[in-house]
Amino acid sequence: MQIPPTASHEHARLALLNRSALLDTPAEIEFDRIVQLAASIFRVPIALVSLIDAQRQWFKAKVGVDVCETGREVSFCGHVVASGRMLVVDNALQDDRFADNPLVLGDPSIRFYAGAPLLISDQLAIGTLCLIDRQPRQFNLQDQTLLQQLADTLSDLIRKRMAVQLGQRQLRLLLTINQAQSSFLLDRDLGAACSTITQSLLDMSHCTLGFIASCQVNDSDTPYLAIPSIAHQQQDALQWLMRQLVPQPSGYHLYGLDHVFGQAIANGEPLVIRRPALYDPGGSLQPLQNLLVIPCFFHLSVLGVLVLANRAEGFDEEIVEHLTTLSDSIGTLLHVRELELARQAAEAELARQATLDPLTGLLNRRAFLERCQYSQQRFARYRQRFSLLMLDLDHFKALNDHFGHPAGDHVLKEVGRMLREQLREIDIIARWGGEEFCILLPQETEQPALLLAERLCRTLAGLAPVWHDEPLALTCSIGVATLHPDGEHTDTLIARADAAMYQAKAAGRNCVRLASAPKQ
Ligand code: GH3
Ligand code: MG
Ligand code: MG
Repeated sequence: MQIPPTASHEHARLALLNRSALLDTPAEIEFDRIVQLAASIFRVPIALVSLIDAQRQWFKAKVGVDVCETGREVSFCGHVVASGRMLVVDNALQDDRFADNPLVLGDPSIRFYAGAPLLISDQLAIGTLCLIDRQPRQFNLQDQTLLQQLADTLSDLIRKRMAVQLGQRQLRLLLTINQAQSSFLLDRDLGAACSTITQSLLDMSHCTLGFIASCQVNDSDTPYLAIPSIAHQQQDALQWLMRQLVPQPSGYHLYGLDHVFGQAIANGEPLVIRRPALYDPGGSLQPLQNLLVIPCFFHLSVLGVLVLANRAEGFDEEIVEHLTTLSDSIGTLLHVRELELARQAAEAELARQATLDPLTGLLNRRAFLERCQYSQQRFARYRQRFSLLMLDLDHFKALNDHFGHPAGDHVLKEVGRMLREQLREIDIIARWGGEEFCILLPQETEQPALLLAERLCRTLAGLAPVWHDEPLALTCSIGVATLHPDGEHTDTLIARADAAMYQAKAAGRNCVRLASAPKQ
């Protein structure tokens, strides 16, 4: 007996058979009608629509037999799909290829066989329409033409069904894209959008693992993939992926580009790995049956990848083509996301700049008053008092006049730096204006605030900032005011600190004065 050969296009042929979605489906009237018609036209006891799977032939429609499948190795139809041409065996007993075939020697005792290929695309046959008789027969050219015409009618039917299924899949894809775009545009949440897309892709494409990753570069110029969410239905594959990822507050990072995903990004081409174990012997891809990585483009740049793994029926060209349409939409989403992040960063930077004094980098007056407001609220709620120091440099005009404005600027920066060094994180330091600095000390009462002010006054007197190799003599006067135990308006508190600072000036400068109690 000759076992049916497998042709070089077997992989594509099986993919096509899978795509036809006919295997193991219930009987259908359109197929049944044609086998019945064939059986009666040619007066044969058995007629079949036989689909040739990897290991078996399975009958989509049948007349005259009870079984629904047999092994592929004994099938006559296997020979038809391998050659893509009609096979006619007048008498199997006289044909070396079939004489000792169990289907000839035993049930159903095949003598005559005629099988026409069901050619679906590119000359690929997924099965046959075949006739079987228990008697030897002649099958002339006219018979053969008629059988092939019936087979072609079936092929047309199958192609149309596949086109409808394709349309349905495209519709689902469009709905998925639409859903993802609106979820992204509505809540600006890339994680939610990615999860919508990948979850729906798993359902649609019968994969068990999927994610979308965006290409990023960190501060030290290391490229990495940011993965906001992972959709999965299989632990093995998820564990394989998890071993490579670094968890983050929002999703995961995969560092470097020396992995399969990086390869697809570098080539800018979809990458299908059909048998990862062969591709990566003994390596990390072992728990995967197959893997698809599609780069997501915006214009000519790859902004990320769409990854799907472990598709039951493998990744054929059609699904890759389909998903490539989606990956372009994902590329656009990633681009919009980048724009959004850049906008947020610019906005945050503007807001930061609006609160800072450009010369010293300390808070400006407006931001300082906001902090005072916050401390007032805390006082209202928790009765926590706070103190203010008003610090003014002594004879600064003279320093400017003598050494020049740039020297004055340099001194102001040095004073700012010294204040940051001397004070705690929770103390709030601002440049109030000109050569005046205002400091808010949370939770301080008069005495500690006074002690701190005196320390600052001494430190500043010893600062001696250097300008053109010359240490500059510098002192300041500080006024200290602590919020009245019954509370008081911020303006009053500031005015008291200011008045105390002028008292220090009047007392000869380079000293500290405590403010008098507010007037009732
Ligand atoms: P006093 O001891 O009474 O405080 O005398 P003073 O000279 O420090 O006070 P006055 O208010 O007369 O002068 C403040 C000077 O600070 C005047 C101004 O030129 C200078 N000044 C204000 N802002 C800046 C600045 O941003 N850079 C420089 N270099 N000087 C500034
Ligand atoms: Mg001043
Ligand atoms: Mg001054």
